[in-house]
Amino acid sequence: MSKSPGEFQLIERLLKRLGPGRRAILGPGDDCAILPPARARQLLTIDSMVEEVHFKLAWGAPEALGARALTVNLSDIAAMGGKPTVCVVNLALRDGLGLRLCDRIYKGLGAAAARCGVEVVGGNVTRAGALAITIALLGEVRGAVLRRDAGRPGDTIYVTGTLGDAAAGLRILSGRLRARAAARKFLSNRFLQPTARVEAGLRLARIKPAPAAIDLSDGLWQDLGHILERSGVGAEIDAGALPLSAAYRAAVGEDPTLALGGGEDYELLFCLRHAFPAPALTRSLGVRVTRIGRITSSGKAVLINARGSLRGGPPLLTGFDQLRSRPGP
Ligand SMILES: [Mg+2]
Repeated sequence: MSKSPGEFQLIERLLKRLGPGRRAILGPGDDCAILPPARARQLLTIDSMVEEVHFKLAWGAPEALGARALTVNLSDIAAMGGKPTVCVVNLALRDGLGLRLCDRIYKGLGAAAARCGVEVVGGNVTRAGALAITIALLGEVRGAVLRRDAGRPGDTIYVTGTLGDAAAGLRILSGRLRARAAARKFLSNRFLQPTARVEAGLRLARIKPAPAAIDLSDGLWQDLGHILERSGVGAEIDAGALPLSAAYRAAVGEDPTLALGGGEDYELLFCLRHAFPAPALTRSLGVRVTRIGRITSSGKAVLINARGSLRGGPPLLTGFDQLRSRPGP
């Protein structure tokens, strides 16, 4: 579809917000951005956020939406131990959305990019049936790459941060869970304004041998499954060890279902050959780290529950399907 003069103006207006950068030889304004020759291995990832699938406009500020669209991509680069560098953005707009909204989305995106040294080197705007933000992000790795296929039996499994907050926040935002004001605010913000663990990923990449790692976008159980599958191993997870926030406990209680199956926390899960005490890792990675289990040779994931018995088999929730913002049929 050809672009109307208005669309060109909009692209120009939005990209101007982001200002000139230093990473690109040529930024927005030509058919392509020009990047200098790479000095390190390049990581490339892409992710979309679509209205009514991943978010509703009424849930939060457009600035947070723009920031979140970048964060979900930053998290993928973090999961592989990379430093994010440049991105291109596609904004799909439906009828009825004004210029002010676009400005605010880009404002949040630009601020998030600036915070982590990422430059937006190009963009596109298109008409569509739903509002959607798609970002392709490059990162570079100078040392080891953190991969999903590096898990070995005997490795200790850790996660950063706390689990299940975003899933609880999503339930609060969509009216399926009630909580007191403080917990409601904390959990909603964990969904609306997640933090990508970029610095922790960079520091993890210095550990030898390079840990297996993944970011928790679809939920612990499902994302752990990707490591097990790619590494050809199994795992034992201690349900009682899962890090739950005070807000999660206040809103959900001790039930770990959301912590196991809830997605979009954007924390990191990683496996270390040589176990370190969690407090030492917390200090060296700059974020809370909790030991939650170990890699086994069994080929399957088992959950050790509070009574010490073993529970294997399928996950308690499937991350994405259960967490769609749109109610099921
Ligand atoms: Mg990922």
